[in-house]
Amino acid sequence: MHFSRFATVFLLLFLTLSCGEAPQSPEWALVIHGGAGVISRDQLAESRQEYVDGLRSALATGQRILAAGGTSLDAVESVLAAMEDNPLFNAGKGAVYNWDGGHELDASIMNGADHACGAVAGVTTVKNPIRLARLVMERSRHVLFGADGAEAFADAMEMDRVDPTYFDTERRRESWENFREDQEKHGTVGCVALDVSGNLAAGTSTGGLTGKRFGRVGDSPIIGAGTWADNRTCAVSGTGVGEEFIRHGVAQRIADLMEYAGLGVTEAAEKVVHGILQEGDGGVIVLDAKGNAAMVYNTNGMFRGRASSDGLLEVLIWDEVEE
Ligand code: ASP
Repeated sequence: MHFSRFATVFLLLFLTLSCGEAPQSPEWALVIHGGAGVISRDQLAESRQEYVDGLRSALATGQRILAAGGTSLDAVESVLAAMEDNPLFNAGKGAVYNWDGGHELDASIMNGADHACGAVAGVTTVKNPIRLARLVMERSRHVLFGADGAEAFADAMEMDRVDPTYFDTERRRESWENFREDQEKHGTVGCVALDVSGNLAAGTSTGGLTGKRFGRVGDSPIIGAGTWADNRTCAVSGTGVGEEFIRHGVAQRIADLMEYAGLGVTEAAEKVVHGILQEGDGGVIVLDAKGNAAMVYNTNGMFRGRASSDGLLEVLIWDEVEE
């Protein structure tokens, strides 16, 4: 009798301890997005595999860096530069057309360890705006350079430059020509990463919205709106209607909900994406310093994927994992 009571207490104690134990955190983790919006299964039938491959190869770039002990900042910069070079995404090479038929590119990056950040808006000849944003962060005492000032800073940094026509692509030209009817808004790229030292970083790069007015700047280069990183809470990158992300301070608000309301990544992201933004506005990727990730959107799909040191590797567009 006495023994069985002892055994029960022991068993309960064991169960409490083993169930209460937090799951092992991954050493490193990486989440990416390639834009959210109306992603029609029919329209994507032919190019679905290309998007899946593009997302997989971007994840592989980050994976290599993080698994070798590289920093989350290096991973974010390299992943986004690779996505900028891929014409499928609305960033770098595949940037959309503005109202006047030109391209104006925006990007930002942020370090979760110390709130260091850098951004550029409205660049027209910089091949990889995310790399310029990183240099703004590390080689200037400022946070955000716009248009001519950003180009002048790119001169000073001897960045890789291209003729503005480099950003012309047939697919984006067609959607510009049809843009009043065109519901497609996807393509911006974003990345959040956690490295083996426990540091978070976030970055976002975009060509903005098709048909945007000259000089319009969206949320992607605005720290706190489209991008945020703080080791104490999370790293965030958003995609969607930039004006709404700015109005609601989306990225920082998610971190605030974690910091001040004690929410986890998923709850915080869902509260903002489903409770504050409107249906169709876009989505976010979020990662905390324990490697917990959320990929939440209120559009019909979001190009996205994640990988971590515990072997997880997946790419999704709609609800199901892509093969
Ligand atoms: N958020 C971007 C912007 O408004 C566009 C997008 O994510 O598709 O510039």
